[in-house]
Amino acid sequence: MNILVCLKQVPGTTKVNIDPQTNTLVRQGIENIVNPFDTYALEEGVRLKERYGGKVTVISMGPPQAEEALKEAISTGADEAILLSDSAFAGSDTLATSYTLAQAIQKIQDYDLVICGRQTIDGDTAQVGPELAEMLEIPFISYVSKIEEIDNKHMRVQRMVEEGHEVIETPLPALITVVKEINVPRLPSLRGLAKAKSAVIPTWTAQELGVDENTVGLSGSATRVIKIFFPQRVHHGEILQGSLESQAESLIDKLRDAKLI
Ligand SMILES: Cc1cc2nc3c(=O)[nH]c(=O)nc-3n(C[C@H](O)[C@H](O)[C@H](O)COP(=O)(O)OP(=O)(O)OC[C@H]3O[C@@H](n4cnc5c(N)ncnc54)[C@H](O)[C@@H]3O)c2cc1C
Repeated sequence: MNILVCLKQVPGTTKVNIDPQTNTLVRQGIENIVNPFDTYALEEGVRLKERYGGKVTVISMGPPQAEEALKEAISTGADEAILLSDSAFAGSDTLATSYTLAQAIQKIQDYDLVICGRQTIDGDTAQVGPELAEMLEIPFISYVSKIEEIDNKHMRVQRMVEEGHEVIETPLPALITVVKEINVPRLPSLRGLAKAKSAVIPTWTAQELGVDENTVGLSGSATRVIKIFFPQRVHHGEILQGSLESQAESLIDKLRDAKLI
């Protein structure tokens, strides 16, 4: 079984800077981590490989330092990793990100299952999984909390919904996004760390993917960030005086005036 895991490196801090020219996140020079939800996607891929054989390939689109995240994936069980990195990919919105990942997956060709995290902790849109499935024209199941059965042609999974779980069957290849309830990710092994250290991770550029530069990065993005700002916090405090009844009446008047009730 050939399993592809999409994994993104994200800032491990909220102290980030925004490029005032492009309104995009400055990703250079900050502490980065593997998107936490993607560690569950990787763990599930590695468990399937251990049970049914095959290999796990991890793909990430990002700046050159995203290689660290891919090495971390190798240390926790991934067999291979591919970095999609090119200045032409910079400024991608979710559409351009999904398109670039889809082109890489189509280049790989031979796969049974694509696993993504449910969302990232920076972009936070949860759009890449479904967009990617649409572009690859394969079935998609979100919020998967358990893989009940899987063979080379089908799988049956449980997905989380507000009231409980749904059980869904799908033919393969398919794409799933997973929630953290699906497993407990393992820590790197000594053997894994040694493998990661010596791993050579291929980088695929726009040219290697054979994509027109106008279809990727900022040029290929359907959306633009017009403005980014931090909401101003204004604290007004007032201590109400008088009897309990008059305090309650005064509070109700104030809430009415502020149109909060
Ligand atoms: C309107 C808009 C404009 C944006 N413009 C910019 C910009 O100019 N510059 C910029 O740096 N960012 C920009 N972003 C953020 C950028 O779009 C996202 O970082 C990226 O598209 C992934 O979306 P997400 O983080 O919301 O992922 P989600 O959809 O929340 O991710 C779901 C899953 O998809 C997979 N995945 C997501 N991204 C990747 C990846 N890169 N590689 C591998 N797997 C991945 C992971 O498995 C992840 O768990 C923009 C976002 C929006 C909404």
